[in-house]
Amino acid sequence: MKDSATPGAAADFYRSIYGSECEALARAPGRIEFIGNHTDYNGGRVAGAAVDRFVVAAAGRRSDRAVCFASALSPETAFRELGDFRKFSGALAWANYPLGIFSVMTARGLHASYGLNLAIVSDLPAGAGLSSSAALEVAAALAIGRVYGENPSATDLVAIGRTAENRFLGLPSGPLDQSVCVHGRENHLVFIDCKHLSMELVPLPGPYRIAIFNSGISHSLVDSLYAQRHNECAEALRLLRVIHPDLENLVDAPEPALDHLPADTPPAVAMRARHVIREHGRVAETREALRSGDMPLIGRLLRESHASSRTLFENSCPELDTLAGLLNEHPKVLGARLSGGGFGGSVMALVSREFGETDARAIADCYESVHGGRPEFLHCAVTGGAGPVSTR
Ligand code: ADP
Ligand code: MG
Repeated sequence: MKDSATPGAAADFYRSIYGSECEALARAPGRIEFIGNHTDYNGGRVAGAAVDRFVVAAAGRRSDRAVCFASALSPETAFRELGDFRKFSGALAWANYPLGIFSVMTARGLHASYGLNLAIVSDLPAGAGLSSSAALEVAAALAIGRVYGENPSATDLVAIGRTAENRFLGLPSGPLDQSVCVHGRENHLVFIDCKHLSMELVPLPGPYRIAIFNSGISHSLVDSLYAQRHNECAEALRLLRVIHPDLENLVDAPEPALDHLPADTPPAVAMRARHVIREHGRVAETREALRSGDMPLIGRLLRESHASSRTLFENSCPELDTLAGLLNEHPKVLGARLSGGGFGGSVMALVSREFGETDARAIADCYESVHGGRPEFLHCAVTGGAGPVSTR
């Protein structure tokens, strides 16, 4: 699938669907969650990086009032009349992402007096925890904006994508996805403080790359497991407020307070809280280690993060543990951890430049001997954020 998501491929796909040339092209990268697991909705810090796998959107105006969305991943094109924002269902449900973007942009003042064609190509696996949804939203927002003479700022793009995902689609994702997709910078990590919604770019020293292994596992109960983790964190905060009434967010609790919870507190509640409080600390330590160039410490923090997901937050699974275990023993790997919500999805590793296809194959072989299938390997550079690209 790599190399299929070029601007030229998007322009070709647009022409093959709509029989004309596109007027606007935009590209948006995927992202990894580098460190900061389930800290976002607990008011904590999280760090991510944009990776060089992309969604590319090609767009153009129509002479009628139809709005059409096509993706190379979908055999059918989705149609709506201008101003009709009823959601799609079934095989066309993916089109709710660009439809949501169009709806949010319209609500924010975009004036559309003619119809729209949109065509999407991508080399970013969907549903692997690399935020293809945010990349799709942001690429669509940029391309749609240009067709109607609008050029949303970076801040607007993040807000449009988040509003579409949270309100139009009803998905409770945190601020990491769209922020990294838009603000990512080559060889930099993006640190986000989810309490103050502030952001900082910190350079990643040296010639490091990101190896991503997509397990392809998606837990059927993932939504209810997320909801359970949310509830456990909320319960921990409620109990801690009995001891510390001014506590605003779970991440601000001093860890020793967990030893003074009521005796009948379910053990899982204290375990989830311990993970979140420590993980919040690890994000700050990662930022300091980057500043001082202490790469072995960063490797240790990544390993600790995964171990904490496995034992305290219990959002790993055997497949992710196998991948993280193999990677964390590999001499060309600084550290590896599950990236994203967990219960399946991907493991990411910070690797030296020497780590390549042969190393990845050996890891996939070991994985296959234990679990049967083979993980998908993505060898990524840390790249810049979304933007328009030339139609030539
Ligand atoms: P993630 O964002 O981690 O990849 P999500 O479940 O949030 O996972 O988003 C995946 C969804 O985004 C897909 O199910 C699909 O609806 C949509 N999507 C992503 N990429 C594409 C694409 N290239 N074409 C059409 N839809 C896409
Ligand atoms: Mg997503």
